[in-house]
Amino acid sequence: MSATEKGLVLKVGRFREADLWVRILTPSRGVFNGFAFGGSRSRRRFVGCLDPLSHVLFTIGTNKTGTYTVLEEGTLLHNFPELRRNPSQTGLAVNCVKFVEAVEIDPSDARPAYELLLETLHSLEKGGGCSDFTPWLFRAKLAFDMGYTPDFLSCGNCGRPLTGTDGHRFNVERGQVVCRTCLSDGKPLEGLARPISAGVLRALDWIQHSSPSDWCAVSMDAEVRRQAGQLIELFVAYHLGLSWEGGMYKKV
Ligand SMILES: [Zn+2]
Repeated sequence: MSATEKGLVLKVGRFREADLWVRILTPSRGVFNGFAFGGSRSRRRFVGCLDPLSHVLFTIGTNKTGTYTVLEEGTLLHNFPELRRNPSQTGLAVNCVKFVEAVEIDPSDARPAYELLLETLHSLEKGGGCSDFTPWLFRAKLAFDMGYTPDFLSCGNCGRPLTGTDGHRFNVERGQVVCRTCLSDGKPLEGLARPISAGVLRALDWIQHSSPSDWCAVSMDAEVRRQAGQLIELFVAYHLGLSWEGGMYKKV
């Protein structure tokens, strides 16, 4: 049986003369490969749909034995022409797509990942991308959205609101902040806990509630930016098992 679903095309490859495989992210299936038989020739069934970064309404089925996914046809919803025309914007989009591919998005995490990537592409299409912020804020927001949702406003131990002072610590494994009062009780902390300043707490809370269209309007103190970036990379490495090394994401 076939179903229709919106999806973002991440990658396309040819496997026979006229046939293509297409890696897609959809809100219910996550990242998967579908086969478009005759896809490189069929002008009618896939008009403008089979290019990376296209947003497409696909009709999706399976082969007779149900062993693989077949793309039956597509209707192009958006192909982000301004984004494609601008090499630096395209680079930012590709960086975000590579991260989504590396994370191996399960169906249960698919909706926030799909919505975030789609919003990011629309924001890049309107010229709202910057190399300083888009890639790492995308990583942070995706990690926060995928069910880990750390709380940067109250202590994960006693529940008290975190005051605007320094001296708190962020427990990377639990995604919780432990306040200075709890720390002064002298109970040992389990796991990896890093000091976190009031400025970094505010920045991380802002990132968690931001959307891609906010990312270029932000100005951030260089030291806050550096510390927030380090905590996010630790959080991503621990929860998603990925680190950024030499221009690509590696499993850690
Ligand atoms: Zn506390």
